[in-house]
Amino acid sequence: MAEIVIRNLRKEFGEFVAVEGSDFTIRDGEFFMLLGPSGCGKTTTLRMIAGLELPTSGQILLDGQDVAQMPASARDIAFVFQMFALYPHMNVRRNISYPLISQGMRRSDVRQRVGEVSRILGIEDILDRPVGALSSGDRQRVALGRAIVREPKAFLMDEPLGALDAEFREHMAEELRALHDRMGATTVYVTHDQLEAMQMGDKIAVMNHGVVEQWGTPQEIYDDPATMFVADFIGSPPMNFLHFDGPLEPHANSVALAEAAVAIPRLEQQTQARKFALGVRPEHIRLEDDSSYRGQVIATEYLGTTQIVTLDTPNGDVKARVPSDQPARIGDMTGLAFNTKTLSLFDAETGSSLI
Ligand code: ATP
Repeated sequence: MAEIVIRNLRKEFGEFVAVEGSDFTIRDGEFFMLLGPSGCGKTTTLRMIAGLELPTSGQILLDGQDVAQMPASARDIAFVFQMFALYPHMNVRRNISYPLISQGMRRSDVRQRVGEVSRILGIEDILDRPVGALSSGDRQRVALGRAIVREPKAFLMDEPLGALDAEFREHMAEELRALHDRMGATTVYVTHDQLEAMQMGDKIAVMNHGVVEQWGTPQEIYDDPATMFVADFIGSPPMNFLHFDGPLEPHANSVALAEAAVAIPRLEQQTQARKFALGVRPEHIRLEDDSSYRGQVIATEYLGTTQIVTLDTPNGDVKARVPSDQPARIGDMTGLAFNTKTLSLFDAETGSSLI
């Protein structure tokens, strides 16, 4: 098992900077997610950790040793390319033992290791069945078995569930996470799906245009987004931004938005920012008639216990997640109340959090 420390990692392809100044630490045994939109540099980062791509500069410390410029073969890290590709003509045992046999491991050791892995996955009783005859769930378990049968220092996975349909994907996500909890192997997992990252990860690094904008636990990232990009990327529907112009005095505790005084998080420091965005998560908005900040209901979306109400406000459209039994009809005017403790405040020009 391994700790992986990334320091000031950079990758250029010619003129193009794919990864810039990345810094984060993956603790021993963590399930670590690299999350971001297409083209933000996730795969390039993962390939550098694997040794499939050499960094332009920076360090990759694997248990304290800088492996950044070492070949993949010297790293003992398993890159799970296509977790679900199996040899259909072979039986389960052959499929799982294949990576060990091709490494030249002794037969008796192979047998023992395959036994251990099949116990972890609960597939001991299908070891002699041909893979082609299995249900899709068992087939995925076998594929997992083949991925984990070697005992590398860490596993790297690039959108391993990307090809699966939604229902099965969720099931496999749970299974992968449960497997990780039993084995405790350091895992780095690339995804563009924020929900998958939130559900599975111990930690998440959110990337945008080659830069890690924030990394931390799902809760840290959700509750205290470091940038407007992170705030917008995580959460569904995403955080609302109410824009207003400054300046803001230190210790100011409210701003006038369309003649309503709206409480804001208190700024302890002086700021040079002139344009601001108040960040409000949909679930932290209450619809209360006596609030002086008002909007008109323009859409409702029923989601069972909650509903998403879209309101036209002086600051543009705002989405609120409220209980479904709260009356909200299109055309209604209502007040919006915000839970001050949960608000975020950003410099709208740089996108950085001010609190
Ligand atoms: P996706 O989810 O679409 O794979 P990603 O976040 O994994 O996105 P990368 O594959 O790391 O992104 O690519 C980051 C950027 O680097 C992209 O703009 C891509 O076109 C570019 N890039 C990646 N590999 C190379 C290469 N070998 N040569 C030139 N540019 C590359």
